[in-house]
Amino acid sequence: MESIKENLSKVRSSIDEACSKAGRDSSEVTLLAVTKTVDIDAVNEALENGVSDVGENKPQELMRKYEQIGDKLNWHLIGSLQTNKVKYIIDKVSMIHSLDRESLCEEIQKQAEKIGRIIPCLVQVNISREESKHGLYMEEVLDFVRKVSIKYKNITISGLMTMAPNTEDEDEIRATFRGLKELSNEIDAQNIPNVNMDELSMGMSHDYKIAIEEGSTMVRVGTSIFGARNYNK
Ligand SMILES: *Cc1c(COP(=O)(O)O)cnc(C)c1O
Repeated sequence: MESIKENLSKVRSSIDEACSKAGRDSSEVTLLAVTKTVDIDAVNEALENGVSDVGENKPQELMRKYEQIGDKLNWHLIGSLQTNKVKYIIDKVSMIHSLDRESLCEEIQKQAEKIGRIIPCLVQVNISREESKHGLYMEEVLDFVRKVSIKYKNITISGLMTMAPNTEDEDEIRATFRGLKELSNEIDAQNIPNVNMDELSMGMSHDYKIAIEEGSTMVRVGTSIFGARNYNK
């Protein structure tokens, strides 16, 4: 098996390549190493090889790793978040990528206010409308964003996040990413207070090159860095 170091260097080259193909600067794209199920040694190896940002989808796992590594990494919560888990991560995350309902906003507001933090969040959008996917439908996003802007002072919306459909059809994947970018432009044009559309979190191991071509600013890459996940470990 290839080492994490080698994998990272390959992923970084691919990111550079996709950026130059799209006429973008590589500094516009943050590589978020998805460390879910990965052990602490591997996380440390990623850190030693220049990774600055990591994504976890389970609050408990994020907590456990944070306790060992702390603020040497920026921790992103990328999975769907239960309201009763917010209190465990609120002081640890630099961004939550899965804002998708008001009850979650209420809890983030409550916990963030307690510790005097303002939490950057991305609204998760279900562009492909697959029933299995989390996130708001496109047509719901603008109203939701307006509401958050008015009601939740300790939340800053910093952009949007989506997952591509599970398909080999590149056009369909591309259309999903393009849809998110267009939605982000529409929202940006509204100039809503406490809302910016700086980040577009889209693209995983399978499709991050397409996502970069379509404007992604954060790619969430797990398998291509750490190898296939073993959930039974
Ligand atoms: C697991 C996961 C990823 C990474 O997926 P890979 O295919 O391993 O790169 C990205 N985003 C989310 C939300 C995930 O849960």
